[in-house]
Amino acid sequence: MTQIADAPIDTVRTPADRVEAWLGKFNEALAAEDPHAVAALFVDDSYWRDLVAFTWNLKTVEGREQIAAMLTERLAQTRPRGFVASEEPTDSDGVAEAFIAFETATGRGDGQLRLRVDDDGEDRAWTLLTTLQELKGYEESTGVSRPMGASHGSDPTAKSWAERQEEEAAALGRTVQPYVLVIGGGQGGIALGARLRQLGVTSLVVDKYDRPGDQWRSRYKTLCLHDPVWYDHLPYLPFPANWPVFAPKDKVADWLEFYTKVMEVPYWSRTECRSASYDEEQGRWTVEIVRDGEQMTLYPTQLVLATGMSGKPNVPSFPGADTFAGDQHHSSRHPGPDGFVGKKVVVIGANNSSHDICKALVENGIDTTMVQRSSTHVVKSASLMKIGLGALYSEEAVQGGMTTKKADMTFASLPYKIMHQFQIPLYDQIREQDKDYYDRLEKAGFDLDFGDDESGLFMKYLRRGSGYYIDVGACDLVADGTIKLAKGGVKEITENSVVLEDGTELPADVIVYATGYGSMNGWAADLMGQEVADRVGKVWGLGSDTTKDPGPWEGEQRNMWKPTQQPNLWFHGGNLHQSRHYSLYLALQLKARFEGLDTPVYGLQEVHHLS
Ligand SMILES: Cc1cc2nc3c(=O)[nH]c(=O)nc-3n(C[C@H](O)[C@H](O)[C@H](O)COP(=O)(O)OP(=O)(O)OC[C@H]3O[C@@H](n4cnc5c(N)ncnc54)[C@H](O)[C@@H]3O)c2cc1C
Repeated sequence: MTQIADAPIDTVRTPADRVEAWLGKFNEALAAEDPHAVAALFVDDSYWRDLVAFTWNLKTVEGREQIAAMLTERLAQTRPRGFVASEEPTDSDGVAEAFIAFETATGRGDGQLRLRVDDDGEDRAWTLLTTLQELKGYEESTGVSRPMGASHGSDPTAKSWAERQEEEAAALGRTVQPYVLVIGGGQGGIALGARLRQLGVTSLVVDKYDRPGDQWRSRYKTLCLHDPVWYDHLPYLPFPANWPVFAPKDKVADWLEFYTKVMEVPYWSRTECRSASYDEEQGRWTVEIVRDGEQMTLYPTQLVLATGMSGKPNVPSFPGADTFAGDQHHSSRHPGPDGFVGKKVVVIGANNSSHDICKALVENGIDTTMVQRSSTHVVKSASLMKIGLGALYSEEAVQGGMTTKKADMTFASLPYKIMHQFQIPLYDQIREQDKDYYDRLEKAGFDLDFGDDESGLFMKYLRRGSGYYIDVGACDLVADGTIKLAKGGVKEITENSVVLEDGTELPADVIVYATGYGSMNGWAADLMGQEVADRVGKVWGLGSDTTKDPGPWEGEQRNMWKPTQQPNLWFHGGNLHQSRHYSLYLALQLKARFEGLDTPVYGLQEVHHLS
């Protein structure tokens, strides 16, 4: 995975020797508070990714100059020390790799290190990941420090757990304000809520749905997770060993509801946030909500938008759409095939939702046409599992000693700047292995792509969050014509058809707009006004200068899980893996502020694009 072409290889020393020697020098240079001496321990094209431990930010610094600049600003206050290998280091094609542990003045951290033999024969760091795992003095009460639960002895005034829960719930939002208000209680909001609860931060998650999990319940009935179970665990409470590889959406929904309860996440259902405004002077938000019909005002200090990156439907306005006589709806509102038997359905779009919806429709004998407006990246789920994720997230990986935490650390340790270089060979392999499959699809007229630089699915996800389908069976139906394929832009909608730009007319009783979702920035505009949304800028993407991800290069995902240009406003979300992993860093940033710790942010997100 980490082979460097033509790099010299050290065949004499063990990886453990190499890592120990390098960490010794690293510790010395850090102790000497000498940023340039530290930077000199890195190769020219090096990457140091820091998740909160040094920068109170999610920040990747690239090359010696940026490393020295970061340390010049952050070293004295961070006071890092005690870097050690936390497991036996390994070797991968001459690159020594190690999981590491360390501490700073305020916390304890973990990370990952890769060493390369530099041109002068010296070992230097090629990639370094440093992550904050806990704040000193504010450690979570787990394991040996778990709560007692029972209070032994005699105290007639002692309240039961249930009574204390009730009292807390009655006070929250009325006599006690949440320090953190999380708007949106999908998988993201729930995972963050669980972490904040464990960290003792007074917080509240609100969602307009009736029950936790309704985000998944409300989607079309045949939907199953596209990612495998090993990738999907929530914090603290992994899925049981009998959990299916691809969980059906209602099962995920029930798990989220159960999880919310057992993790004691303060959660208000049937609660819609209507608006939020920030009071600079008081340093707090005024948030108007409607809870079960009751209008309320909350005054949280920190506001997290966990309203879903796949949350705000993007519905194009085609001429004539208002004249259409049949049923038309966005894919997020698609109920599944049952009500459409005997009808002609046109599904506009050719990515994940479209394929899933079309597959379920034709399986119910419904005449279905998919309209492909631009090329799509498709990859067979089995190939993705084996070649794309298998080394870290699979039963084989688990049996080989891989844990979710180690997998997440390894995943996070590959800098975004060079991630595509490691993805391209995987997709070359997939393309080769599944050549017949791709040939059949192209023969059916389906426009395929593998991303602007052939780096495949995961880079598309990180860069633009769209433009792909993980194939769980629909592609065969496209290839054999069961799902009819039409191509090109939509010119107009008539009373009973969809007309394409080349004049093709597709008769339709039902139109499904599988046209994706807008930027999370749109949620900010809805709730806080355009001015705040513009201050924050585009959310998601890396600045890769590829389609839908304009430059300049950002190095991290824009505005996600880190401070934004709007004080005390945060964005959280993504797939289950991201909700699990990044909720920790967001929760620790919020906890530090809750406790009044000094949190100077290095390299605050700049704004280059508005939406
Ligand atoms: C077809 C499809 C398949 C997918 N497959 C997978 C998969 O296999 N694995 C995976 O990890 N992800 C998958 N995803 C993506 C997944 O849905 C999102 O990653 C996930 O839902 C994001 O979770 P979230 O908590 O960030 O947002 P959401 O689940 O969208 O939750 C946002 C919540 O915010 C609430 N909300 C919004 N505005 C307000 C307001 N003003 N007041 C109160 N509440 C509000 C909404 O009610 C909603 O409950 C899939 C998505 C789709 C559409």
